Amino acid sequence: MSVIFADVIVPLALNRLLTYSVPEKLESMAAAGKRVTVPVGKKSYTGLIRRIHRHAPESYAVKDLLAILDDSPTVTEIQLQHWEQLAGYYLCSPGEVMKAALPARLRTVFRPLTETCVRLHPSISSEEQLHGCLDALKRAAKQEALLLSYLSFAGELDFAHPHEMPKKQLLQGGQTAAALTACVKKNILMLVTRETGRLDLSATAGKAAPVLSAAQQQARDEISVLFRQKNVVLLHGITASGKTEIYIDLMAEQLRHGRQALYLLPEIALTTQIIDRLQSIFGNIVGVYHSKYSDNERAEIYHAVSSHYRIILGVRSSLFLPFDNLGLIIVDEEHETSYKQYDPAPRFHTRDAAIMLAQLHRASVLLGTATPSVESYYNAHAGKYGLVTLAERYYQALPPTMDVVDTTRERKRKKMHGLFSQPLLDAIGEALSKNEQVILFQNRRGYSPFVQCSECGHIPRCTRCSVSLTYHRQGNVLLCHYCGASQPLLAVCPECKSPNIQTKGAGTERAEDELQLFFPQARIARLDLDAARAKHAYSHILGSFAQRRIDILVGTQMITKGLDFEHVSLVGILNADTLLNFPDFRAHERSFQLMTQVSGRAGRKDKQGRVIIQTAQPSNPIIYLVRKADYNGLFNLQLLERREFHFPPYSRLTSITLKHRQPDILQPAAEMLRNLLSPALQQRLTGPFQPAVNRIQNRYLACFWVRLERDAHAGALKHFLMEQLAALRRQRGFSGIEATVDVDPF
Ligand code: ADP
Ligand code: ZN
Ligand code: ZN
Repeated sequence: MSVIFADVIVPLALNRLLTYSVPEKLESMAAAGKRVTVPVGKKSYTGLIRRIHRHAPESYAVKDLLAILDDSPTVTEIQLQHWEQLAGYYLCSPGEVMKAALPARLRTVFRPLTETCVRLHPSISSEEQLHGCLDALKRAAKQEALLLSYLSFAGELDFAHPHEMPKKQLLQGGQTAAALTACVKKNILMLVTRETGRLDLSATAGKAAPVLSAAQQQARDEISVLFRQKNVVLLHGITASGKTEIYIDLMAEQLRHGRQALYLLPEIALTTQIIDRLQSIFGNIVGVYHSKYSDNERAEIYHAVSSHYRIILGVRSSLFLPFDNLGLIIVDEEHETSYKQYDPAPRFHTRDAAIMLAQLHRASVLLGTATPSVESYYNAHAGKYGLVTLAERYYQALPPTMDVVDTTRERKRKKMHGLFSQPLLDAIGEALSKNEQVILFQNRRGYSPFVQCSECGHIPRCTRCSVSLTYHRQGNVLLCHYCGASQPLLAVCPECKSPNIQTKGAGTERAEDELQLFFPQARIARLDLDAARAKHAYSHILGSFAQRRIDILVGTQMITKGLDFEHVSLVGILNADTLLNFPDFRAHERSFQLMTQVSGRAGRKDKQGRVIIQTAQPSNPIIYLVRKADYNGLFNLQLLERREFHFPPYSRLTSITLKHRQPDILQPAAEMLRNLLSPALQQRLTGPFQPAVNRIQNRYLACFWVRLERDAHAGALKHFLMEQLAALRRQRGFSGIEATVDVDPF
């Protein structure tokens, strides 16, 4: 009878581990971190052993685990602890973290990747025999050519271990598969199956690391000193101050100590900008990891992290790689909202998950940004993080000049031409005439956020979501930005049959269109989610812009991120109001960040840049602070607001969303949840309330916020919330209610 049990993580939303008995013949192989096949109900799953023990579970009859899939653990003890921390903090199951953490290929039974190779047949063991074969092929020209081609690839032949080359490679040079088959039949060549490593490890190091400027060196030294006292240091360095160079220097130091470094970026596209630079300095020990790789490639990179790579450049998923000796994590552009994973669980913030991981490795974390998140700056001021400031641009260039155009006043004076004010048009014309480039920021994609019948006022809306449909010129369709549903733009109003349908409001497509009318000679491109959808579109557009094959780039926030162009002299923000009026408590913080980041693209080296902001609220304090580049002003203003309304960093926010297709089921369920939660939470609970978009994909939404004191223990809350949500779903009629819990939701 078995006495050994394994607690297993299965990739399901189960809030506990499942315990299995280990059959005697597998006992010696069982270990934490190894993948196993286990039965759950009638199915079997690939799970992961968390721990081995000898306590038989009391409440249920244990089943045997069916197989152990690994010779050595796929997941390290540190990874397992990290998953547990994330599940605990973000209120999800370890299985959900496992799903996010392991490449899909490692979550199914792993078949090694193989390819077919060609080698000389073992019966040919001497020079003479080989010549005999060649003579025999004299009248089969294609077969002869194939054999010669193989021999030329093989070079000096060792008959005991003849060269093996991929079949694909051999057939690339015009050789035919039929000729190969014939040579195989004649026992001249032979096919063998080999495991592959497809990682491209061809990059060669050698370029010298940059020499730091005096200001950079000072910042770098301060960081080192602070790392002796704090786990986390925030580097507040303005755009173009050369933060990347400091990162490179710090990573080189880790390598000298035999430790690994993880360099996190918020967007895949940004990794392509920096990878060449890193590989030219550090060579092929730099790996890149993100979801645009195929699943096989990801699995291979995963395995190579402990055996080969010393530096990993990646987006949020690279936190889950099996580092064996991590010394430093860099979180670049730490303020970026794309670091937060919204769906599915685990709904984690990469910065915070990185800090947890670093603690487990006893590694340091460097957060870098020109516009810190209010939370991080708050933590720095409270002494929790170290703070280092780098306030000069690397090339000593002057910061750009900032002008604000009051669009209301311009409109009254008939000086608005579509989306463009006269001063902005003049500035664009001037830049183009000097052969300089222009970036225009418009924070909405599509042509117009809605269309309206001018006779009856009808506005087409999504049938599944409570939003108006956005008109996209590309494809001439109306699109729902929440569920992706699309319908053609009708020529007449479906309500009153009038042909007078007007586009209202403005997106990137309209800006691009109008611009082409004003500047028919200019080469204009657009960069937004739609334009970047094709696989290499993003880097292609940025590449063209960098090579000056584009004069004006119009885009959404995609153009605001860490990009470095030398010839941009003008940045225009077409409509600051859509940013400022966004309905959430971070709107002002984000407005400041976006406007400052995009402004940072103007001017490089010896040229001073120019920024023009169009807004109907020229006296809005955020506009004033952006103009003055006054981050501290923004921070202090935000703290006042956040304190008054008890928002982070003065509280920890958790949101709960209930969803159901029928409002008459959702509403009483939400009322009931309120009654379950409020006695314990009291004024910490807000809701239920309807979000601005209260129906998505045919499901109605009801929301709650829980605001906890900053120092409260989240563990107790987790238990309580999960219990109450389970209690709610046990009620008659409420079993179909979906509930999502999101910790630090914004
Ligand atoms: P940031 O990330 O802080 O906005 P970057 O690292 O992109 O700034 O640096 C801005 C520009 O200055 C880049 O073109 C970079 O190559 C250059 N640069 C910065 N520091 C150095 C250095 N020490 N040596 C050479 N070039 C540098
Ligand atoms: Zn109508
Ligand atoms: Zn929709």
